Amino acid sequence: MADEKTVLIGRCGPTVLLPKQGSKIVPLRRTAPLRVDVAGGGPVGLAYACTLKSLLGDQVSIRVHDRRWMRRGDRVVWRGAAEGNNRREQVVTLQSNVWAALPEAVQQRLFVPGRFSEMWPLGPDSPASKGRPRNIKVRWIEDCLLDMAQDVYGIELVPAAYEKPARWDGLHVLAIADGARSATRDSLREHFGTPSRELFSVDGSPLDERVLGIRVTAKVPDEHTVPLTVAQNRFLFNSLGGGFINMRLTTEEASEIVALGESGPVSCIGKFGCSMRPDNGRFVCDRHRAVFKPSVDRLSFLWPRILDGLRFFGVGVADVVAINSFTLGMQQMSKFTAQLAPSTFGFLLGDAANSLHFWPGRGLNTGLKSALSLAVNLQKRWRGKPFRAADFAQHEGIMQQLQYREKSRAWTTMLMPDSEGVPRGIEDRIRTGLQGPYDRNALVQTLYQRVLEIKKRLGDRMGSLATDEWYYGRISALDTRTLKVMVESGAWITREIGGEEVEIPSAVSADVQAPARRLSLVS
Ligand SMILES: Cc1cc2nc3c(=O)[nH]c(=O)nc-3n(C[C@H](O)[C@H](O)[C@H](O)COP(=O)(O)OP(=O)(O)OC[C@H]3O[C@@H](n4cnc5c(N)ncnc54)[C@H](O)[C@@H]3O)c2cc1C
Repeated sequence: MADEKTVLIGRCGPTVLLPKQGSKIVPLRRTAPLRVDVAGGGPVGLAYACTLKSLLGDQVSIRVHDRRWMRRGDRVVWRGAAEGNNRREQVVTLQSNVWAALPEAVQQRLFVPGRFSEMWPLGPDSPASKGRPRNIKVRWIEDCLLDMAQDVYGIELVPAAYEKPARWDGLHVLAIADGARSATRDSLREHFGTPSRELFSVDGSPLDERVLGIRVTAKVPDEHTVPLTVAQNRFLFNSLGGGFINMRLTTEEASEIVALGESGPVSCIGKFGCSMRPDNGRFVCDRHRAVFKPSVDRLSFLWPRILDGLRFFGVGVADVVAINSFTLGMQQMSKFTAQLAPSTFGFLLGDAANSLHFWPGRGLNTGLKSALSLAVNLQKRWRGKPFRAADFAQHEGIMQQLQYREKSRAWTTMLMPDSEGVPRGIEDRIRTGLQGPYDRNALVQTLYQRVLEIKKRLGDRMGSLATDEWYYGRISALDTRTLKVMVESGAWITREIGGEEVEIPSAVSADVQAPARRLSLVS
Protein backbone atom coordinates (compact mmCIF):
# COMPACT_ATOMS: atom_id res chain seq x y z
CA MET A 1 0.00 0.00 0.00
CA ALA A 2 1.54 3.26 -1.08
CA ASP A 3 0.24 5.26 1.85
CA GLU A 4 0.80 2.63 4.51
CA LYS A 5 2.55 3.71 7.66
CA THR A 6 4.58 0.89 9.18
CA VAL A 7 5.68 0.36 12.75
CA LEU A 8 8.37 -2.24 13.19
CA ILE A 9 7.86 -3.95 16.50
CA GLY A 10 10.84 -5.95 17.65
CA ARG A 11 11.20 -9.57 18.58
CA CYS A 12 8.20 -10.40 20.69
CA GLY A 13 5.88 -7.46 20.73
CA PRO A 14 2.15 -7.96 20.55
CA THR A 15 0.28 -7.90 17.27
CA VAL A 16 -0.33 -4.21 16.79
CA LEU A 17 -2.50 -2.19 14.48
CA LEU A 18 -1.51 1.37 13.87
CA PRO A 19 -3.92 3.99 15.11
CA LYS A 20 -6.51 4.96 12.61
CA GLN A 21 -5.29 7.28 9.89
CA GLY A 22 -8.39 9.05 8.99
CA SER A 23 -10.97 6.30 8.75
CA LYS A 24 -8.46 3.63 7.77
CA ILE A 25 -6.80 1.08 10.08
CA VAL A 26 -3.32 0.31 8.84
CA PRO A 27 -2.01 -3.16 9.54
CA LEU A 28 1.42 -3.63 11.02
CA ARG A 29 4.04 -5.06 8.69
CA ARG A 30 5.89 -7.46 10.99
CA THR A 31 9.01 -9.52 10.69
CA ALA A 32 8.30 -13.10 9.64
CA PRO A 33 8.16 -15.46 12.61
CA LEU A 34 10.96 -17.79 13.59
CA ARG A 35 10.16 -21.12 11.93
CA VAL A 36 10.91 -24.22 13.99
CA ASP A 37 10.44 -27.93 13.30
CA VAL A 38 10.77 -30.51 16.08
CA ALA A 39 11.47 -34.17 15.28
CA GLY A 40 10.08 -36.21 18.20
CA GLY A 41 7.30 -35.22 20.60
CA GLY A 42 8.43 -37.10 23.70
CA PRO A 43 8.81 -35.23 26.99
CA VAL A 44 11.81 -33.23 25.74
CA GLY A 45 10.46 -32.30 22.27
CA LEU A 46 7.12 -31.17 23.74
CA ALA A 47 8.67 -29.31 26.70
CA TYR A 48 10.97 -27.51 24.27
CA ALA A 49 8.08 -26.52 21.99
CA CYS A 50 5.87 -25.29 24.85
CA THR A 51 8.72 -23.34 26.49
CA LEU A 52 9.79 -21.67 23.26
CA LYS A 53 6.21 -20.69 22.46
CA SER A 54 5.74 -19.26 25.94
CA LEU A 55 8.92 -17.17 25.50
CA LEU A 56 8.41 -15.93 21.93
CA GLY A 57 4.62 -15.92 21.53
CA ASP A 58 3.52 -15.11 18.00
CA GLN A 59 7.10 -14.44 16.96
CA VAL A 60 7.56 -18.18 16.52
CA SER A 61 5.76 -20.81 14.49
CA ILE A 62 6.40 -24.37 15.70
CA ARG A 63 5.57 -27.75 14.20
CA VAL A 64 6.21 -30.99 16.14
CA HIS A 65 6.26 -34.48 14.57
CA ASP A 66 5.83 -37.77 16.44
CA ARG A 67 5.17 -41.24 15.13
CA ARG A 68 3.48 -42.36 18.38
CA TRP A 69 0.56 -39.95 17.80
CA MET A 70 -2.61 -40.26 15.76
CA ARG A 71 -5.48 -37.98 14.86
CA ARG A 72 -8.85 -38.44 16.60
CA GLY A 73 -11.46 -35.96 15.37
CA ASP A 74 -9.86 -32.55 15.57
CA ARG A 75 -7.31 -33.62 18.19
CA VAL A 76 -3.94 -35.34 18.17
CA VAL A 77 -3.72 -38.11 20.80
CA TRP A 78 -1.26 -40.83 21.82
CA ARG A 79 -1.59 -44.16 20.07
CA GLY A 80 -2.50 -46.90 22.58
CA ALA A 81 -1.73 -50.61 22.88
CA ALA A 82 -4.35 -51.41 20.21
CA GLU A 83 -2.38 -49.26 17.76
CA GLY A 84 0.93 -50.91 18.71
CA ASN A 85 2.21 -48.30 21.16
CA ASN A 86 3.03 -49.35 24.73
CA ARG A 87 2.96 -46.15 26.76
CA ARG A 88 5.91 -45.72 29.13
CA GLU A 89 5.07 -46.15 32.80
CA GLN A 90 8.36 -45.24 34.42
CA VAL A 91 8.55 -42.77 37.27
CA VAL A 92 11.24 -40.11 36.82
CA THR A 93 12.69 -37.72 39.36
CA LEU A 94 12.84 -34.09 38.24
CA GLN A 95 15.30 -31.85 40.07
CA SER A 96 13.89 -28.51 41.23
CA ASN A 97 16.43 -26.53 39.15
CA VAL A 98 14.69 -28.18 36.19
CA TRP A 99 11.00 -28.26 37.08
CA ALA A 100 11.08 -24.69 38.41
CA ALA A 101 12.47 -23.44 35.07
CA LEU A 102 9.49 -24.77 33.08
CA PRO A 103 6.81 -22.21 32.11
CA GLU A 104 4.53 -21.40 35.05
CA ALA A 105 1.46 -22.74 33.21
CA VAL A 106 3.23 -26.06 32.57
CA GLN A 107 4.21 -26.37 36.23
CA GLN A 108 0.63 -25.72 37.31
CA ARG A 109 -0.66 -28.39 34.96
CA LEU A 110 1.94 -31.03 35.87
CA PHE A 111 2.11 -30.72 39.62
CA VAL A 112 -1.41 -31.40 40.85
CA PRO A 113 -2.04 -33.44 44.02
CA GLY A 114 -1.79 -37.18 43.46
CA ARG A 115 0.30 -36.80 40.30
CA PHE A 116 3.68 -36.21 41.93
CA SER A 117 5.51 -37.00 45.14
CA GLU A 118 8.60 -35.75 46.91
CA MET A 119 10.69 -38.78 47.74
CA TRP A 120 14.35 -37.79 47.29
CA PRO A 121 16.29 -35.24 49.41
CA LEU A 122 17.46 -31.70 48.64
CA GLY A 123 20.83 -31.53 46.84
CA PRO A 124 22.95 -29.27 44.60
CA ASP A 125 20.45 -29.51 41.71
CA SER A 126 17.47 -29.22 44.06
CA PRO A 127 18.36 -26.34 46.39
CA ALA A 128 16.14 -25.51 49.36
CA SER A 129 15.23 -22.16 47.71
CA LYS A 130 13.41 -24.01 44.90
CA GLY A 131 12.26 -27.16 46.66
CA ARG A 132 12.78 -30.90 46.65
CA PRO A 133 13.05 -33.13 43.57
CA ARG A 134 9.66 -34.36 42.36
CA ASN A 135 8.72 -37.84 41.23
CA ILE A 136 6.32 -37.93 38.33
CA LYS A 137 5.33 -40.40 35.62
CA VAL A 138 6.76 -39.87 32.12
CA ARG A 139 3.32 -40.74 30.78
CA TRP A 140 1.66 -37.93 32.76
CA ILE A 141 4.27 -35.42 31.54
CA GLU A 142 3.61 -36.50 27.95
CA ASP A 143 -0.20 -36.33 28.35
CA CYS A 144 -0.15 -32.86 29.91
CA LEU A 145 2.30 -31.42 27.38
CA LEU A 146 0.48 -32.85 24.35
CA ASP A 147 -2.78 -31.27 25.57
CA MET A 148 -1.10 -27.96 26.35
CA ALA A 149 0.70 -27.88 22.99
CA GLN A 150 -2.66 -27.87 21.19
CA ASP A 151 -4.98 -26.16 23.70
CA VAL A 152 -2.74 -23.50 25.23
CA TYR A 153 0.14 -22.86 22.86
CA GLY A 154 -1.41 -23.46 19.43
CA ILE A 155 1.51 -25.57 18.23
CA GLU A 156 1.06 -27.52 14.99
CA LEU A 157 1.22 -31.27 15.66
CA VAL A 158 2.02 -33.78 12.92
CA PRO A 159 1.16 -37.39 13.85
CA ALA A 160 3.83 -39.02 11.68
CA ALA A 161 7.52 -39.86 11.57
CA TYR A 162 9.72 -36.88 10.75
CA GLU A 163 11.09 -36.96 7.20
CA LYS A 164 14.11 -34.88 6.34
CA PRO A 165 12.96 -32.44 3.62
CA ALA A 166 14.69 -32.27 0.24
CA ARG A 167 15.39 -28.56 0.91
CA TRP A 168 15.48 -26.55 4.12
CA ASP A 169 13.81 -23.50 2.55
CA GLY A 170 12.43 -21.09 5.13
CA LEU A 171 13.13 -23.29 8.16
CA HIS A 172 15.32 -21.60 10.77
CA VAL A 173 15.59 -24.31 13.42
CA LEU A 174 15.34 -28.10 13.43
CA ALA A 175 15.25 -29.46 17.00
CA ILE A 176 16.07 -33.18 16.98
CA ALA A 177 14.43 -34.87 19.97
CA ASP A 178 13.52 -38.31 18.64
CA GLY A 179 15.20 -40.29 21.40
CA ALA A 180 18.34 -42.34 21.96
CA ARG A 181 18.11 -44.16 18.63
CA SER A 182 17.44 -40.94 16.72
CA ALA A 183 16.91 -41.67 13.04
CA THR A 184 16.98 -37.93 12.30
CA ARG A 185 20.43 -37.56 13.90
CA ASP A 186 21.66 -40.56 11.90
CA SER A 187 20.33 -39.09 8.66
CA LEU A 188 22.32 -35.89 9.39
CA ARG A 189 25.54 -37.67 10.33
CA GLU A 190 27.59 -35.54 7.96
CA HIS A 191 26.65 -32.48 10.06
CA PHE A 192 26.87 -33.89 13.61
CA GLY A 193 29.58 -36.54 13.19
CA THR A 194 29.36 -40.19 14.24
CA PRO A 195 28.85 -40.91 17.97
CA SER A 196 31.72 -42.88 19.48
CA ARG A 197 31.62 -45.56 22.18
CA GLU A 198 35.39 -45.56 22.61
CA LEU A 199 35.37 -43.49 25.80
CA PHE A 200 32.82 -45.73 27.46
CA SER A 201 34.61 -49.02 26.93
CA VAL A 202 36.55 -51.38 29.14
CA ASP A 203 39.51 -53.27 27.65
CA GLY A 204 38.46 -52.11 24.20
CA SER A 205 34.81 -53.30 24.45
CA PRO A 206 31.93 -50.89 24.94
CA LEU A 207 30.43 -51.41 28.40
CA ASP A 208 26.74 -52.30 28.34
CA GLU A 209 24.69 -53.14 31.37
CA ARG A 210 21.57 -55.23 31.45
CA VAL A 211 18.86 -54.08 33.85
CA LEU A 212 15.53 -55.58 34.81
CA GLY A 213 12.70 -53.09 35.42
CA ILE A 214 10.05 -54.57 37.70
CA ARG A 215 6.93 -52.42 37.84
CA VAL A 216 5.12 -52.75 41.16
CA THR A 217 2.40 -51.27 43.29
CA ALA A 218 3.89 -50.28 46.63
CA LYS A 219 2.56 -50.45 50.18
CA VAL A 220 5.43 -48.68 51.90
CA PRO A 221 5.59 -44.83 51.85
CA ASP A 222 7.90 -43.76 49.00
CA GLU A 223 10.37 -41.90 51.23
CA HIS A 224 10.94 -44.83 53.57
CA THR A 225 12.63 -46.82 50.83
CA VAL A 226 15.30 -44.17 50.07
CA PRO A 227 17.92 -45.38 52.64
CA LEU A 228 17.40 -48.96 51.41
CA THR A 229 18.10 -47.90 47.81
CA VAL A 230 21.09 -45.71 48.69
CA ALA A 231 22.73 -48.39 50.90
CA GLN A 232 23.46 -50.74 47.96
CA ASN A 233 23.80 -50.79 44.17
CA ARG A 234 21.93 -53.94 43.15
CA PHE A 235 18.34 -52.59 43.34
CA LEU A 236 16.92 -49.10 42.83
CA PHE A 237 13.34 -48.20 43.72
CA ASN A 238 11.82 -45.02 42.32
CA SER A 239 8.22 -44.71 43.37
CA LEU A 240 5.03 -42.68 43.16
CA GLY A 241 2.85 -44.94 45.31
CA GLY A 242 4.33 -47.66 43.07
CA GLY A 243 6.92 -47.57 40.36
CA PHE A 244 9.93 -49.48 39.12
CA ILE A 245 12.31 -51.61 41.13
CA ASN A 246 15.34 -51.79 38.85
CA MET A 247 17.81 -54.65 39.24
CA ARG A 248 21.33 -54.71 37.79
CA LEU A 249 22.29 -58.11 36.37
CA THR A 250 25.44 -60.07 35.64
CA THR A 251 25.93 -61.49 32.15
CA GLU A 252 24.94 -64.95 33.42
CA GLU A 253 21.75 -63.59 34.98
CA ALA A 254 20.97 -61.63 31.80
CA SER A 255 21.18 -64.87 29.82
CA GLU A 256 18.09 -66.01 31.72
CA ILE A 257 16.01 -63.14 30.28
CA VAL A 258 14.25 -65.34 27.77
CA ALA A 259 10.62 -65.53 26.62
CA LEU A 260 9.22 -68.95 25.78
CA GLY A 261 6.61 -69.47 23.06
CA GLU A 262 4.82 -72.74 22.29
CA SER A 263 7.77 -74.08 20.34
CA GLY A 264 10.74 -72.53 22.08
CA PRO A 265 12.37 -69.15 22.77
CA VAL A 266 10.76 -66.10 21.13
CA SER A 267 12.31 -62.68 20.33
CA CYS A 268 10.36 -60.63 22.81
CA ILE A 269 11.47 -59.11 26.14
CA GLY A 270 15.17 -59.42 25.27
CA LYS A 271 14.91 -57.92 21.79
CA PHE A 272 11.84 -55.65 21.67
CA GLY A 273 11.63 -54.57 25.31
CA CYS A 274 8.15 -56.13 25.69
CA SER A 275 6.35 -56.01 29.06
CA MET A 276 5.65 -59.35 30.72
CA ARG A 277 2.45 -59.14 32.78
CA PRO A 278 1.01 -61.47 35.47
CA ASP A 279 -1.19 -64.23 34.08
CA ASN A 280 -2.15 -67.18 36.34
CA GLY A 281 1.07 -67.20 38.33
CA ARG A 282 3.26 -66.67 35.26
CA PHE A 283 4.41 -63.51 33.46
CA VAL A 284 3.29 -63.28 29.84
CA CYS A 285 3.86 -60.84 26.96
CA ASP A 286 0.55 -59.41 25.60
CA ARG A 287 1.98 -59.12 22.12
CA HIS A 288 3.81 -62.43 21.57
CA ARG A 289 1.90 -64.51 24.17
CA ALA A 290 5.31 -65.75 25.33
CA VAL A 291 6.13 -66.59 28.98
CA PHE A 292 8.96 -64.99 30.99
CA LYS A 293 11.09 -68.09 31.53
CA PRO A 294 12.44 -67.40 35.05
CA SER A 295 8.86 -67.15 36.37
CA VAL A 296 8.09 -70.78 35.34
CA ASP A 297 11.52 -72.39 35.56
CA ARG A 298 11.92 -74.21 38.87
CA LEU A 299 15.68 -74.32 38.32
CA SER A 300 15.97 -70.58 37.70
CA PHE A 301 18.69 -69.02 39.83
CA LEU A 302 17.48 -65.51 38.89
CA TRP A 303 13.84 -65.74 40.01
CA PRO A 304 14.50 -66.18 43.78
CA ARG A 305 16.94 -63.25 43.60
CA ILE A 306 14.24 -61.09 42.00
CA LEU A 307 11.74 -62.05 44.72
CA ASP A 308 14.27 -61.31 47.45
CA GLY A 309 14.87 -57.84 46.01
CA LEU A 310 11.11 -57.19 45.99
CA ARG A 311 10.84 -58.30 49.63
CA PHE A 312 13.55 -55.81 50.61
CA PHE A 313 11.19 -52.98 49.55
CA GLY A 314 8.12 -54.55 51.15
CA VAL A 315 6.71 -55.80 47.84
CA GLY A 316 5.35 -59.30 47.13
CA VAL A 317 5.06 -61.11 43.80
CA ALA A 318 1.32 -60.30 43.82
CA ASP A 319 2.26 -56.60 43.67
CA VAL A 320 4.22 -56.99 40.42
CA VAL A 321 2.44 -55.30 37.51
CA ALA A 322 4.97 -55.93 34.73
CA ILE A 323 8.57 -56.94 34.03
CA ASN A 324 10.78 -55.25 31.39
CA SER A 325 14.43 -55.45 30.54
CA PHE A 326 16.77 -52.93 28.91
CA THR A 327 20.42 -52.49 28.07
CA LEU A 328 22.27 -49.34 29.06
CA GLY A 329 25.46 -48.06 27.47
CA MET A 330 26.79 -44.62 26.54
CA GLN A 331 28.37 -42.86 23.59
CA GLN A 332 30.21 -39.57 23.15
CA MET A 333 28.85 -36.94 20.75
CA SER A 334 31.27 -34.59 19.00
CA LYS A 335 28.82 -31.69 18.65
CA PHE A 336 25.20 -30.80 19.29
CA THR A 337 24.71 -27.77 17.02
CA ALA A 338 25.18 -27.79 13.24
CA GLN A 339 24.47 -25.48 10.33
CA LEU A 340 22.35 -27.54 7.95
CA ALA A 341 21.92 -24.82 5.29
CA PRO A 342 22.77 -21.10 5.05
CA SER A 343 19.71 -20.12 7.15
CA THR A 344 18.95 -23.40 8.95
CA PHE A 345 20.51 -24.73 12.15
CA GLY A 346 19.97 -28.18 13.66
CA PHE A 347 20.20 -29.04 17.37
CA LEU A 348 20.35 -32.37 19.19
CA LEU A 349 18.22 -32.38 22.33
CA GLY A 350 17.21 -34.90 25.02
CA ASP A 351 18.20 -38.55 24.61
CA ALA A 352 19.05 -37.88 20.94
CA ALA A 353 21.89 -35.71 22.30
CA ASN A 354 22.89 -37.50 25.50
CA SER A 355 21.57 -40.91 26.39
CA LEU A 356 22.66 -41.71 29.94
CA HIS A 357 22.85 -44.66 32.27
CA PHE A 358 19.80 -43.95 34.41
CA TRP A 359 21.12 -45.18 37.78
CA PRO A 360 21.93 -41.64 38.90
CA GLY A 361 18.48 -40.70 37.46
CA ARG A 362 19.48 -37.79 35.21
CA GLY A 363 18.35 -38.59 31.65
CA LEU A 364 15.21 -36.49 31.51
CA ASN A 365 16.70 -33.74 33.68
CA THR A 366 19.60 -33.43 31.25
CA GLY A 367 17.20 -33.53 28.30
CA LEU A 368 15.00 -30.79 29.76
CA LYS A 369 18.07 -28.68 30.53
CA SER A 370 19.11 -28.98 26.86
CA ALA A 371 15.60 -27.93 25.75
CA LEU A 372 15.50 -24.96 28.15
CA SER A 373 18.97 -23.84 27.10
CA LEU A 374 18.04 -23.80 23.40
CA ALA A 375 14.72 -22.04 24.02
CA VAL A 376 16.43 -19.30 26.07
CA ASN A 377 19.22 -18.94 23.48
CA LEU A 378 16.66 -18.49 20.70
CA GLN A 379 14.70 -15.97 22.76
CA LYS A 380 17.87 -13.91 23.23
CA ARG A 381 19.12 -14.16 19.64
CA TRP A 382 16.09 -14.02 17.35
CA ARG A 383 16.07 -10.66 15.54
CA GLY A 384 13.98 -11.63 12.54
CA LYS A 385 17.11 -12.22 10.48
CA PRO A 386 18.95 -15.46 9.66
CA PHE A 387 21.09 -16.76 12.49
CA ARG A 388 24.86 -17.01 12.38
CA ALA A 389 26.92 -19.82 13.94
CA ALA A 390 28.13 -17.44 16.67
CA ASP A 391 24.54 -17.02 17.93
CA PHE A 392 24.69 -20.53 19.38
CA ALA A 393 28.09 -20.48 21.06
CA GLN A 394 26.46 -20.25 24.48
CA HIS A 395 24.01 -23.09 23.88
CA GLU A 396 26.67 -25.41 22.40
CA GLY A 397 28.87 -24.64 25.42
CA ILE A 398 26.04 -25.64 27.80
CA MET A 399 25.53 -28.88 25.83
CA GLN A 400 29.22 -29.76 26.10
CA GLN A 401 29.13 -28.99 29.83
CA LEU A 402 26.08 -31.24 30.25
CA GLN A 403 27.77 -34.03 28.33
CA TYR A 404 30.89 -33.80 30.49
CA ARG A 405 29.03 -33.48 33.80
CA GLU A 406 26.36 -36.11 33.25
CA LYS A 407 28.41 -38.73 31.43
CA SER A 408 31.23 -38.46 34.01
CA ARG A 409 28.64 -39.04 36.71
CA ALA A 410 27.04 -41.98 34.92
CA TRP A 411 30.38 -43.52 33.92
CA THR A 412 31.62 -43.40 37.53
CA THR A 413 28.41 -45.19 38.53
CA MET A 414 29.05 -47.84 35.88
CA LEU A 415 32.70 -48.36 36.89
CA MET A 416 32.02 -48.28 40.62
CA PRO A 417 35.49 -47.39 41.99
CA ASP A 418 36.44 -48.93 45.35
CA SER A 419 37.70 -46.90 48.33
CA GLU A 420 41.14 -46.64 46.64
CA GLY A 421 39.55 -45.29 43.44
CA VAL A 422 40.21 -48.53 41.54
CA PRO A 423 37.30 -49.47 39.23
CA ARG A 424 35.42 -52.53 40.44
CA GLY A 425 32.44 -52.97 38.13
CA ILE A 426 29.03 -54.02 39.35
CA GLU A 427 29.31 -57.46 37.71
CA ASP A 428 32.45 -58.31 39.70
CA ARG A 429 30.80 -57.11 42.86
CA ILE A 430 27.64 -59.16 42.32
CA ARG A 431 29.69 -62.29 41.48
CA THR A 432 31.78 -61.92 44.65
CA GLY A 433 28.57 -61.50 46.62
CA LEU A 434 27.16 -64.74 45.25
CA GLN A 435 30.17 -66.71 46.51
CA GLY A 436 30.79 -67.82 50.11
CA PRO A 437 31.93 -67.82 52.78
CA TYR A 438 29.02 -66.05 54.44
CA ASP A 439 28.99 -64.55 57.92
CA ARG A 440 25.31 -63.69 58.18
CA ASN A 441 25.48 -61.66 61.40
CA ALA A 442 28.37 -59.54 60.08
CA LEU A 443 26.50 -58.94 56.81
CA VAL A 444 23.30 -57.86 58.59
CA GLN A 445 25.29 -55.50 60.83
CA THR A 446 27.24 -53.98 57.92
CA LEU A 447 24.13 -53.22 55.88
CA TYR A 448 22.21 -52.00 58.92
CA GLN A 449 25.01 -49.60 59.96
CA ARG A 450 25.09 -48.25 56.39
CA VAL A 451 21.36 -47.58 56.48
CA LEU A 452 21.64 -45.82 59.86
CA GLU A 453 24.45 -43.58 58.57
CA ILE A 454 22.44 -42.69 55.46
CA LYS A 455 19.37 -41.96 57.59
CA LYS A 456 21.44 -39.59 59.70
CA ARG A 457 22.93 -37.87 56.67
CA LEU A 458 19.55 -37.37 54.96
CA GLY A 459 17.75 -36.35 58.17
CA ASP A 460 17.34 -32.61 57.55
CA ARG A 461 17.10 -32.82 53.74
CA MET A 462 13.84 -34.76 53.48
CA GLY A 463 10.67 -35.75 55.33
CA SER A 464 10.41 -38.33 58.09
CA LEU A 465 11.88 -41.79 57.55
CA ALA A 466 10.87 -45.15 59.05
CA THR A 467 12.09 -46.31 62.48
CA ASP A 468 15.45 -48.04 62.91
CA GLU A 469 13.57 -51.24 63.82
CA TRP A 470 11.70 -51.18 60.51
CA TYR A 471 14.98 -51.00 58.58
CA TYR A 472 16.48 -53.76 60.73
CA GLY A 473 13.43 -55.92 59.96
CA ARG A 474 13.83 -55.41 56.20
CA ILE A 475 17.53 -56.28 56.27
CA SER A 476 17.35 -59.28 58.58
CA ALA A 477 14.59 -60.86 56.42
CA LEU A 478 16.94 -61.13 53.42
CA ASP A 479 18.46 -64.35 52.13
CA THR A 480 22.15 -64.54 53.10
CA ARG A 481 23.41 -64.49 49.50
CA THR A 482 21.28 -61.46 48.66
CA LEU A 483 22.69 -59.77 51.76
CA LYS A 484 26.25 -60.42 50.65
CA VAL A 485 25.52 -59.15 47.11
CA MET A 486 24.12 -55.94 48.60
CA VAL A 487 27.09 -55.46 50.92
CA GLU A 488 29.57 -56.13 48.09
CA SER A 489 27.71 -53.86 45.65
CA GLY A 490 28.55 -50.93 47.94
CA ALA A 491 26.56 -47.88 49.01
CA TRP A 492 25.92 -45.10 46.47
CA ILE A 493 29.14 -43.24 45.79
CA THR A 494 27.51 -39.90 46.49
CA ARG A 495 30.78 -37.99 47.09
CA GLU A 496 32.28 -39.04 43.75
CA ILE A 497 29.18 -38.30 41.70
CA GLY A 498 28.05 -35.21 43.65
CA GLY A 499 29.24 -31.62 43.33
CA GLU A 500 28.43 -28.61 41.21
CA GLU A 501 25.69 -28.93 38.59
CA VAL A 502 25.36 -27.27 35.17
CA GLU A 503 23.27 -24.11 35.36
CA ILE A 504 21.02 -23.09 32.50
CA PRO A 505 20.81 -19.35 31.74
CA SER A 506 17.46 -17.82 32.65
CA ALA A 507 14.98 -16.51 30.13
CA VAL A 508 14.89 -12.76 29.63
CA SER A 509 11.88 -11.34 31.42
CA ALA A 510 9.23 -9.67 29.30
CA ASP A 511 10.10 -6.16 30.63
CA VAL A 512 13.77 -6.45 29.76
CA GLN A 513 12.98 -8.26 26.54
CA ALA A 514 10.66 -5.55 25.19
CA PRO A 515 12.75 -4.15 22.38
CA ALA A 516 13.16 -0.55 21.46
CA ARG A 517 10.35 0.20 19.04
CA ARG A 518 11.40 1.77 15.83
CA LEU A 519 8.92 3.92 14.07
CA SER A 520 9.40 3.87 10.36
CA LEU A 521 7.24 6.11 8.34
CA VAL A 522 6.85 5.02 4.80
CA SER A 523 4.98 7.44 2.71
C1 LIG B 1 13.66 -47.21 33.66
C2 LIG B 1 14.06 -45.80 33.41
C3 LIG B 1 14.10 -44.91 34.47
C4 LIG B 1 14.46 -43.58 34.26
N1 LIG B 1 14.50 -42.74 35.33
C5 LIG B 1 14.85 -41.45 35.15
C6 LIG B 1 14.89 -40.52 36.26
O1 LIG B 1 14.61 -40.84 37.41
N2 LIG B 1 15.24 -39.24 36.00
C7 LIG B 1 15.54 -38.80 34.74
O2 LIG B 1 15.86 -37.62 34.58
N3 LIG B 1 15.49 -39.66 33.67
C8 LIG B 1 15.16 -40.95 33.83
N4 LIG B 1 15.13 -41.80 32.77
C9 LIG B 1 15.44 -41.30 31.40
C10 LIG B 1 14.26 -40.61 30.71
O3 LIG B 1 13.13 -41.45 30.67
C11 LIG B 1 14.69 -40.20 29.31
O4 LIG B 1 15.86 -39.44 29.40
C12 LIG B 1 13.61 -39.36 28.60
O5 LIG B 1 12.45 -40.12 28.35
C13 LIG B 1 14.13 -38.82 27.26
O6 LIG B 1 13.16 -38.00 26.64
P1 LIG B 1 13.24 -37.63 25.09
O7 LIG B 1 12.00 -36.86 24.80
O8 LIG B 1 14.57 -37.06 24.77
O9 LIG B 1 13.23 -39.03 24.32
P2 LIG B 1 12.08 -40.11 24.26
O10 LIG B 1 11.37 -40.15 25.56
O11 LIG B 1 12.72 -41.35 23.77
O12 LIG B 1 11.06 -39.54 23.16
C14 LIG B 1 11.41 -39.54 21.79
C15 LIG B 1 10.13 -39.36 20.99
O13 LIG B 1 10.48 -39.31 19.61
C16 LIG B 1 9.54 -40.09 18.85
N5 LIG B 1 10.23 -40.51 17.64
C17 LIG B 1 11.23 -41.41 17.51
N6 LIG B 1 11.63 -41.47 16.23
C18 LIG B 1 10.88 -40.57 15.53
C19 LIG B 1 10.84 -40.15 14.18
N7 LIG B 1 11.67 -40.64 13.27
N8 LIG B 1 9.94 -39.20 13.84
C20 LIG B 1 9.10 -38.66 14.75
N9 LIG B 1 9.10 -39.03 16.06
C21 LIG B 1 9.98 -39.97 16.43
C22 LIG B 1 9.15 -41.21 19.79
O14 LIG B 1 7.88 -41.71 19.42
C23 LIG B 1 9.13 -40.50 21.14
O15 LIG B 1 7.86 -39.97 21.44
C24 LIG B 1 14.79 -43.13 32.94
C25 LIG B 1 14.74 -44.04 31.87
C26 LIG B 1 14.40 -45.36 32.09
C27 LIG B 1 14.36 -46.31 30.92
